[in-house]
Amino acid sequence: PLPSKLYGKRTNSSGIELGDRKELAALLGGIAKASRSVNAVPLIDGVKAHGKAQNVISPVNGSTVGTVVFATADEAAKAVGIARKGFASWSRVPVETRAKALEKAADLLEDNRNQLLDLLSREAGKTIDDGIAEIREAVDFCRYYAAEARRQFGTDKIMPGPTGEDNKLRHRGRGAFVCISPWNFPLAIFLGQVTAALAAGNTVVAKPAEQTPLIAYEAIRILHEAGVPKDAVLYVPGDGSVGAALTSHAEIAGVAFTGSTDTAWAINRALAAKKGPIVPLIAETGGLNAMIVDATALSEQVADDVVMSAFRSAGQRCSALRILYLQEDIADNMLEMIEGAAKELTLGDPSLPSTDVGPIIDEAQRDMLSNHIAAMRKSQKVRYAGDAPKEGMFFAPHIVELNRPDALEREVFGPVLHVVRWKAKDLDKVLDQIASTGYGLTFGLHTRIESTVTKVIDRLDIGNVYVNRNTIGAVVGTQPFGGSGLSGTGPKAGGPAYLARFALEQVVSVNT
Ligand code: GLU
Repeated sequence: PLPSKLYGKRTNSSGIELGDRKELAALLGGIAKASRSVNAVPLIDGVKAHGKAQNVISPVNGSTVGTVVFATADEAAKAVGIARKGFASWSRVPVETRAKALEKAADLLEDNRNQLLDLLSREAGKTIDDGIAEIREAVDFCRYYAAEARRQFGTDKIMPGPTGEDNKLRHRGRGAFVCISPWNFPLAIFLGQVTAALAAGNTVVAKPAEQTPLIAYEAIRILHEAGVPKDAVLYVPGDGSVGAALTSHAEIAGVAFTGSTDTAWAINRALAAKKGPIVPLIAETGGLNAMIVDATALSEQVADDVVMSAFRSAGQRCSALRILYLQEDIADNMLEMIEGAAKELTLGDPSLPSTDVGPIIDEAQRDMLSNHIAAMRKSQKVRYAGDAPKEGMFFAPHIVELNRPDALEREVFGPVLHVVRWKAKDLDKVLDQIASTGYGLTFGLHTRIESTVTKVIDRLDIGNVYVNRNTIGAVVGTQPFGGSGLSGTGPKAGGPAYLARFALEQVVSVNT
């Protein structure tokens, strides 16, 4: 938990004991009762959207979760104009008032937990476990950024200077910030970006992923209910054309983006090409995340951590493990254990507590995975292919043994674990290989040799390094999250440096 003074009386949000039958039954009953269809429309203060409502289809079983009206490019541009105007008042709202609104939003998220869990499961295919973790993360972001805004921006910072001159450093918002978020954390990452921008005094135009607009709609309604004005946070659902309209708009003050490396490049180019101020891009993208396991590692723990890191959330996390480097002496034994643990996973309806792995988000992603496995079958060894339910958008966990580590060059976003064997004398080569990918998001190491730990963390420019544990589920305020190189720009979400990137610094020097 975070130091409690940052949270007033509170620490990170609490979980639910799913092992307790009574608590679980109450939760499932609550979710069923809270389930309803959501009909989302753009929330662009004062502008009526013209688009047609379209169904949002569940990846679980093809049922309709609700409807959404996408904004047009023109409406998206109008939203930026409105956020620009709204900035005049929101940026002057005291930090304390902004922080209180975010804390209220955190409480409302908790109050609405059952409905949000239902949406996370039906719209995004999240298991109950993952859904609970995601709501907790969203709540933590609200409270953490509220606390950090108070701490960092609450009072002007007195700078040292000569006698006869007062120097103060102050922070203020930049203007209308564009937030573009992914479908894999449709609540936590969506709200993390938005609340950081708001806490720093910006107004926000928020575009959720086109696959998951409904939960984002509910999140924005919660922010409005919590007291964030309608011209301070605007909801602009749509596809890539809406994102392009936003990022090429002359009047935006910055972009926060989480998603693919390719899209981050495209946004970077759009920002470079547009007229107007030169604005920051805060991008968190993918990873070709590796884990090294040496012969001293504890095998049971490795098997658990590998399966969790590679297959939980159907591998649809940017933190997920993609390439496992097993020291040759233990490789056969380890692979047998990992395959055994993978076989135990239950795939299926994510709303059932017995389900470990839910569906893939949509057909395009599933086709990408099938094509990848088909390509791997030609040149590499597919060691393990699990069973997936026939109905719904499922893709089973796979384990592929690579005959050379650079046979995988790009992130494959799904439940596919690639394995490479290495010899004890070649640790440096393995480290060079991992560094040469250019990605730097998460990394795992299983060893009981302390000097290996020091050597490895020293050699790799990787944002989040996990030793003797799994590589997913970074906790807000405890494991600030984000990488470098092809994995993003930083600063880390849920960390002390994040808010400053959303803010303008102003120094006032007064000759007294
Ligand atoms: N923060 C998440 C984790 O640590 C991953 C975020 C993402 O997938 O974008 O697992």
